[in-house]
Formats: sequence, C-alpha cells, structure tokens
Amino acid sequence: MLLAATIMVCGVLPLSAAEITLKLAHSWPKGFPIFATSVDEYAELVSEMSDGRIEIKVDSRNKHKSAFGIFDFVKSGQYDIGQSASYYYGGKDPDTLFFTTMPFGMTALEQYAWFHEGGGLELANQVYDKHGIEVMTGGNTTMQMGGWFNKEINSVDDLKGLKMRIPGFGGKVMAGVGAVPTNIPAGELYQALERGTIDALEWVGPSLDLRMGFHKIASYYYTGWHEPGTELMYFFNKETMQELPEWARSVLLNAAKLTSFNMTVQSQHESAVNWESMLTEFPNIEVRDFPEEVIEALRQSNRALLAQEASRSELSKKIIQSQSSYLTLVRGWTNIGDRAYLNNIAGQ
Ligand code: CA
Repeated sequence: MLLAATIMVCGVLPLSAAEITLKLAHSWPKGFPIFATSVDEYAELVSEMSDGRIEIKVDSRNKHKSAFGIFDFVKSGQYDIGQSASYYYGGKDPDTLFFTTMPFGMTALEQYAWFHEGGGLELANQVYDKHGIEVMTGGNTTMQMGGWFNKEINSVDDLKGLKMRIPGFGGKVMAGVGAVPTNIPAGELYQALERGTIDALEWVGPSLDLRMGFHKIASYYYTGWHEPGTELMYFFNKETMQELPEWARSVLLNAAKLTSFNMTVQSQHESAVNWESMLTEFPNIEVRDFPEEVIEALRQSNRALLAQEASRSELSKKIIQSQSSYLTLVRGWTNIGDRAYLNNIAGQ
C-alpha cells in the first residue's frame, strides 16, 4: 500500500490524485471475459466511489505468473488485494474449500442469502482471519454445467480412471467414485483436453465455455451437479485494511459487494446468449444429463466426504452444519417459490 503525501509542495499537484494506491492480483488471463473484466470494473468502481482518492493497480496472471498464488500474495502482503476462487486453496487450508460452491449444495441466490444473511461470510472470515486475510464475495457464475466429456457416461464404471479437470469438493467427490481429478488453470484447459492429458473437464457454463472452444474437441456436454453457484472472492490483506481509514475500508468492501451483483448478472446474461448460440450454431453438441445411477453414486460419495470433513475439526463441522441447515431452510422456500412457479408454467 502506498499512502501519497497529501501536502502540496510549492503549489505543484502530485502526479496522481490518489491518496491511497493498492495493488491487486487476480487468477485470470488479462482481460479474460467476466472474471478478469469484473476486477477491472471493481477498480474503476473503487476509484469512482472514492472520488479518485483510492487507486487500484490490477495485475493479471500474465504479469504475476501464478494463477493459484493469490492466497499467498495477499497473505504475505506482496499484494494488498486478491480476487480468485476460494476453493483453489484447499492445499493451504482445507476449510477454504467450503466458500466457493458445494456439490449438491446451494444455488447462487441461496448461497448469497447464506453469505450475507445466514452467517456464511462470518464463517469465511473466521477461516481466513488465521491467514491475515479478510474476505468479501466477488461475483457468481450462476449454475455451472457438469462439463465436457469425450465419451458418453452411461454408468459409474465409465467414470473409473477418467482423468478430469475438476477442482474443489467436486473433484474429491469424483475421486470417491474412481475418477482422477486434477486442477488446471483456465489458459491451459483447451490444450490439456486436445492433447489427451485429460479426458474431460468442467469449466463454467455457456457464459465462458463457448468461447473456449471445448465443443470442437469434446462432443458431450453434461448438465450440472457439482457447482450450483460458484462464487469468486476478494481477499484483502488484514494489515492493509487495519491501516486504512474507515471510509476507505467501506469503499473497498462495498464496491466488492456491488461487483458481486454486477458479475452475477453478467454471468446470467452471457450464459443465456451463449446457450442460444450453442443451440443454433453448434447443433452437434450432445447435451446430456448424468444417469440417475451416476448421480446417486456421486451423492453417496458427497455424503461420505462431508462426514469425513466434519470429523476433521470443530470449525469444519460448524461450517458444514451451517451450510446444511441453511440449505434446508432456504430450499424450503425455493421449492414452494421458484420450483413451483417453473412447474406451474412448464410447457410455455
Ligand atoms: Ca467450474
């Protein structure tokens, strides 16, 4: 963090009008649609909301070269702010895996209610506080697709030995049914699938998958089960935040919250537009739901994994219980609200 001297010398204005300059690193290639552009918009919003008093310098992975290094960058203070997906950092702290999305878990809107009204953000901060990081929601992809496969999945046996790019708990659940999960950064996904390093991958959904070109190298596009509402996250170095005046902290956190809304809406829009393109321009894409037998096996694997995770520590147990009880609460309303509405008007 740079705090510019606010005293003018001999009436000469400082080169930058900003009083506070902060460095931000994100996980994505420069200008990567939605994910990286929403961070650029965040920096602009912070400047606007602070009347130019806060400037954020944004570095993409092209600059810092470490897509999955954001947690360490912010923890160490090398960067003041980061934007990434929490579930990339399970190797740093297994409890970070809970704060992106959960297989068979909450949808984007349900999860936002949990984060902002149901105690989710407090739990996330409890986990990150140990690492000197404060967090805020960063934007949602909305429903993610189950991924691209180079063969049809007709039974659980078809998943055995299948090498798939799938991060977070989704990957662990897949491992539970015999698949071989791995994580690969966005910029290397196409090549990995094309060269056969992996047999399948999940990335996001129509919003981002179409432009990645996966349909050219894998015909089967499966519907979702493992990432019903993937939330990106802003990380703030705690020491930086403590040194900032209250108005600046407020701008940084509230701009992140507003960016969450903006990115989520953009994801929904882009998925709608791109899904229509897929249907009309690429009719050879074979869209499939996983068979019931496969979904049931994944569900059992998920249950076993959560039971194991809950026994790991008091905090992991508390987080799993919070998510589980909030899911029951909020799904009750979703069922009689959204689900009933969609059923009522089915066929339109
Ligand atoms: Ca994904």
